[in-house]
Amino acid sequence: MSNQEDYYSLLELNQNSAPEDIKRNYKNLARKYHPDNKDTGSEEIFKKIGEAYSILSDPQKKAAYDRYGHEAFTQGSRGASSPFSNSDLFDDLSDLFETFMGASASGGGNRRKRRERGGDIQVILELDFLESAFGVNRKIKLNRLINCKACDGSGADPSSGVQTCPTCKGNGEVRVATQSFLGVITQVITCPTCRGTGNIIKTPCKVCTGKGQTKEENELDIKVPKGAEDSSRLIWQQKGNEGRNGGPAGDLYILLKVKPHPKFKRQGLDIFEEKTISVWQAIMGDEFEIETIHGSQMIEVKAGLQPNTLITLNSQGIKLDSGQSGSHHIKLNVQIPNKKDLKPELIQLISNENLENKENKKAGFAENLANLFRKKDGE
Ligand SMILES: [Zn+2]
Ligand SMILES: [Zn+2]
Repeated sequence: MSNQEDYYSLLELNQNSAPEDIKRNYKNLARKYHPDNKDTGSEEIFKKIGEAYSILSDPQKKAAYDRYGHEAFTQGSRGASSPFSNSDLFDDLSDLFETFMGASASGGGNRRKRRERGGDIQVILELDFLESAFGVNRKIKLNRLINCKACDGSGADPSSGVQTCPTCKGNGEVRVATQSFLGVITQVITCPTCRGTGNIIKTPCKVCTGKGQTKEENELDIKVPKGAEDSSRLIWQQKGNEGRNGGPAGDLYILLKVKPHPKFKRQGLDIFEEKTISVWQAIMGDEFEIETIHGSQMIEVKAGLQPNTLITLNSQGIKLDSGQSGSHHIKLNVQIPNKKDLKPELIQLISNENLENKENKKAGFAENLANLFRKKDGE
């Protein structure tokens, strides 16, 4: 369905690759395809491998990708531009880039306000068994922190604005000299007036009470893919809390909780159920209806069925868009009647109209069987 390239093949890796391999291959490929590289540079490929690396280097995102592929990340971004911007990658991966681009990018001297990534948010999404099997579109309500619109995230009332800290002159640090028996020692400490920000706020913003961020309620459409598993996560990148000072937003994790089904249990794409049949059905064979998630189906059991027999209906389990499908398995338990119930049951069986209408052979068998039990009881 997805025409996006596989992240592993983009980085020349597979699912079992170690974190060191992921990092090493990314570094090599990023160097090769960096747009500044005149010989082999390609902005398109550079962006793609950056995107692949941002997923595969994060254990939670990698786990989601291994389970659902690109579907784990398509939330809301279908048709829209990629949620990964180059500037964020440069920010997050600056340690990697410095190693081959020289440290000039990180600059020196002037103290710029640190870009701060917003916090991640996790929401729990409860699904029932069939919703998880077939996939579902759901709406969720989400409270996220966004930068205050009144003060533009500064926390200062627009009338006074943000002022440069007079103690440190905006450096965020101050030198303090202390006298000791060794002489004067100069230490650099975080400025106590502005707590290192370099700024002070005279009048806090009334809207956010100086915090710089406010809560915003969003309603989001979540597309849960087919075959969603309990306790797995979907990730909506950059839908978490907004970052400060132009930093990227955090991610939204959607933790899926699948309610247990009264009859079905799931293992991978396979569905298991247990069904109890009577000893008479086991001895003589029978036909009955079985409910799978795809509808009902008649199955036939042959005469002489043994307890705990497993019947498998191929391709009647969970089906993925990729074409992969599991099976529906029925474990047949045979209920052995108590001795006191035995005789009435036999009598009922023999007088059962349906049975009498069945072929003579079966009726004769039942009669013989009844005689046998009668003898055992000493009658
Ligand atoms: Zn504000
Ligand atoms: Zn200061």
